[in-house]
Amino acid sequence: MKALLCFSQNEFKLEEIDKPEIQKDEMLIEMIYTGLCGSDIVKIFDPVVKKPAVFGHEVVGRVAETGRNVTGFKSGDIVVTGHHIPCYRCHYCLHGSHSMCRHFKETNIYPGSFCQYIRLSKEHIMYTTFKVSPDFNLLEALFIEPLACCIRAMDRIDSSENDLFSVVGTGIIGMLFIQLIKLSRGRVVAIDLDDKRLSLAGLLGAEYTINPFKKNIVREIKNITAVGVDIAILSVTNKYTLNDALLYLRDGGTVNIFGASGKESRFEVDFESIYKRELTIMSSYSATPETLRRAHDIIAGKKINLSPLISEVMPLSDFKKGLDLMLKRKIYKAIFKL
Ligand SMILES: [Zn+2]
Ligand SMILES: [Zn+2]
Repeated sequence: MKALLCFSQNEFKLEEIDKPEIQKDEMLIEMIYTGLCGSDIVKIFDPVVKKPAVFGHEVVGRVAETGRNVTGFKSGDIVVTGHHIPCYRCHYCLHGSHSMCRHFKETNIYPGSFCQYIRLSKEHIMYTTFKVSPDFNLLEALFIEPLACCIRAMDRIDSSENDLFSVVGTGIIGMLFIQLIKLSRGRVVAIDLDDKRLSLAGLLGAEYTINPFKKNIVREIKNITAVGVDIAILSVTNKYTLNDALLYLRDGGTVNIFGASGKESRFEVDFESIYKRELTIMSSYSATPETLRRAHDIIAGKKINLSPLISEVMPLSDFKKGLDLMLKRKIYKAIFKL
């Protein structure tokens, strides 16, 4: 079968590799669509991650083969799946930290979604694989996994109706957060350096938008609310976005680190002010089977608008082009058809 091998951040080749074999409890999925996630980009650029490798974890596919013990699925079913599975028994799982579970971190689809066929384990079939109905827009199904990560973040944040959120960065994740916050009756200030993206953020529900290239964020937020923002969600994490957030948060407010900070992850933060103002810095990482299911239901119920986030669909042979378009912020998400 064909698979997209990543040799380095600049070198990708579509090569022939062995199709995965399945055991009696497993399934073989023929990929239909896959999306490029920000976390794949982090891995592509991380020199520590072993290469060559087949990356990708956003899966929309068709069941090609089922092991003889598999029930509930048959050849031809259209499915989506999540890649990590918590054990539900360990210390982390019992404390609600499912994405910190060691089993969660070890489990994955094989070999990765950037290829023609993937193998799903018994646990994937049990916990993270959902049949999607034929009337489900399959391109929208690619957003189940990223939306599930955002739902997990919203679950972890303590918020009330009418709270004011800042959403920093209006890529895919920011646009999903804006719509989730609206569903939970919050208000949104969207912050980004790109005016075009900010105008879409407004269309998707953000009451206020700020471009820090043009306006002073702290002053602008003072004009919106004398108290400050209740919750800041950073889909872009760096010394500017975090320190700005700590300035414009209300006393007692919370900042959620959602985006990886990459290489520049060490910088100065005013801990005296965090202490005296009772600020909370928290993070949230990945999704769980339960948030995947809720993300599926939100998208199936057409409760959020994904169509402006979907652009051209490329063949996997155009992987580099898709990556570049995403890095240059020309598209929100690179989507590949197998
Ligand atoms: Zn992802
Ligand atoms: Zn566990």
